[in-house]
Amino acid sequence: MYEVPTKKVKKCIFCIILVLALTMLLGCTPQKNETSSNNNESEAAVLTDVSGADSLKLLEEGDARFVDAKTTTKDISVAKRADLSNNGQFPFAVVVSCSDSRVPPEVIFDQALGELFVIRVAGNVIDPVTLGSVEYGVEHLKSQLVVVMGHEKCGAVKATMDGGVPAGSIGSIVDKIQPSVEKVKATGVPESDVYEDSIDENIKNSVVEIEKSPIIEELIAAGKLKVVGAKYDLDTGTVVYLPEV
Ligand SMILES: [Zn+2]
Repeated sequence: MYEVPTKKVKKCIFCIILVLALTMLLGCTPQKNETSSNNNESEAAVLTDVSGADSLKLLEEGDARFVDAKTTTKDISVAKRADLSNNGQFPFAVVVSCSDSRVPPEVIFDQALGELFVIRVAGNVIDPVTLGSVEYGVEHLKSQLVVVMGHEKCGAVKATMDGGVPAGSIGSIVDKIQPSVEKVKATGVPESDVYEDSIDENIKNSVVEIEKSPIIEELIAAGKLKVVGAKYDLDTGTVVYLPEV
């Protein structure tokens, strides 16, 4: 008569031990920080809760650590890579940045493997290929934030201002930036301001180009996506966000 409840108790104890063991095991998986985890099976649920505004905050916090030279140690272990390989990627933000070697998004924003979906192209210009990549990041991977990050002293914008006939296929980049340079020159700003103002305008133009995508437009209208322009300062390491266009 007493055997049945005893068995139940034993089974219950076994279940508790199993749950504790699993909890400890999951607890050993390194977490990005207290506001975001990107490396377990519940990630999809976590990601959908990371709004564009919260994603932006994560990037701002990461850049602040970078500026202060207090970046966090990243998990690049075999286990981490296996985790990402087996469970897929869930980047919380899409970043379109210039290819400039001084402007690596993962470093500037202090993010680890699997956290940013990055598209890099000289002059951070948008063409069908880069736009398709952005669309993949937000439509398929469900990132709720897109950042177009240009930077001061951008060589691609400088090459455009210098004029002439670019070698090889560089002209395809210049052609994309040229309208922004012309637009700034037409405003009559001092010559000394044309370079940096053109960089700003080129960033804004890329934001506008991205927002023309029906996929992007729909997500923005549904309140599920935020697209912002930003400019990186090479000297201070600071990323300044441009006013929304
Ligand atoms: Zn550049």
